[in-house]
Amino acid sequence: MAAEFEIEAKIEELLQNDLQGFRCPVCRHSEFAVLDEMGSSLRTNLMHYESDDPVAKQRTRLISMACTNCGHIEQFAEEPLRRRAIAAIGVPV
Ligand SMILES: [Zn+2]
Repeated sequence: MAAEFEIEAKIEELLQNDLQGFRCPVCRHSEFAVLDEMGSSLRTNLMHYESDDPVAKQRTRLISMACTNCGHIEQFAEEPLRRRAIAAIGVPV
């Protein structure tokens, strides 16, 4: 059984591994700043609305990164990474 902080650390590890060799699709730079800190209450969320209702019905938590050269932003949905992290280290307590 893993604690939440262990899952968050594993998510960061998985993302770093997935991004090895990744380059910005705009300028080909290889360094990115992570804009969403795991465990923080300030996170990027993709909000989902019905077309005739201004109240959000669902959200997708994102991990956003900005290219440190041109500012291009890449975003990843956290949930698939969370599932992989839990599969790798166990269910949260
Ligand atoms: Zn760039």
